[in-house]
Amino acid sequence: MARYGMVIDVGRCIGCYSCFLACRDEHVGNDYRPVSLAQPQAGQKWIEVREQERGSFPKVKVAHIPVPCLHCTEASCVSATTNGAVYRRSDGIVLIDSEKAAGQHDIVASCPYRVIFWNEAKNVPQKCTLCAHLLDDGWKEPRCVEVCPTGALVFGDLSDPGSEISKLHRTNAVEDLHPEYGMKPLVGYLGLPRRFVAGEIVLADKAEFAAQGVRLTLRRDTEVLTTVTDNYGDFEFDGLEANVKYLLRIEYPGYRSGELWVSTRTDLNVGTIVLDPLNGTD
Ligand code: SF4
Ligand code: SF4
Repeated sequence: MARYGMVIDVGRCIGCYSCFLACRDEHVGNDYRPVSLAQPQAGQKWIEVREQERGSFPKVKVAHIPVPCLHCTEASCVSATTNGAVYRRSDGIVLIDSEKAAGQHDIVASCPYRVIFWNEAKNVPQKCTLCAHLLDDGWKEPRCVEVCPTGALVFGDLSDPGSEISKLHRTNAVEDLHPEYGMKPLVGYLGLPRRFVAGEIVLADKAEFAAQGVRLTLRRDTEVLTTVTDNYGDFEFDGLEANVKYLLRIEYPGYRSGELWVSTRTDLNVGTIVLDPLNGTD
């Protein structure tokens, strides 16, 4: 028996919304009983491409994070119902039984990932089914995965050690979107945004030129990270752990070194740092 899962590579997602549109094309106006009722024309996003803006001008990045139902193995939506209105199939897919779930508005709030929607006209909660109706018909993947132009969505059988998704899991790089919820989702993520520290270096006596090749070091305890400024004089450390204090050191031959403490409580733009020349006297 297959155990389905998906890995979403955030680094590959370009925010094109093809997955969202394919989902709507498959489900709006189409009943696939007993797996799902038709998605309404508006108001539901069974896969939502959430945009996360990071940093401050001019050092701003946008990450696109597609979020369908994550088909948790310890799902709060399943345990929130007493009559089996939300249930997990033996292949891992979590489904809503629209007859048993009729009128149970509380099911919407049972999911902390906010991926269950209320259909007012039909009086039922609804969500992503991983296109279980297609998989049951022999399809290899849901519509969203099929249309993704960048390969950001990888779907497969977690119980098959040779599947691409199993290989990705063996890298130990697949993460939970919210591990703090403790729900062990079958949909995991690669490349979730971390913190960055960025800025610009200017050489005081050559301010009209970009300060390329200036060496920067971030230190805490035994961790040492280095980079150099690019041909615009800009630098960036990305992929940093949140809520850590680092000592940032800036060095360039012939100029006074600089040091400052930086914190990754948020993504940080340290702004412009000006290095003064030694002028041969120090
Ligand atoms: S993501 Fe939400 S709706 Fe989906 S299985 Fe987990 S708890 Fe249930
Ligand atoms: S189709 Fe792929 S690249 Fe486009 S938004 Fe969805 S996951 Fe991202």
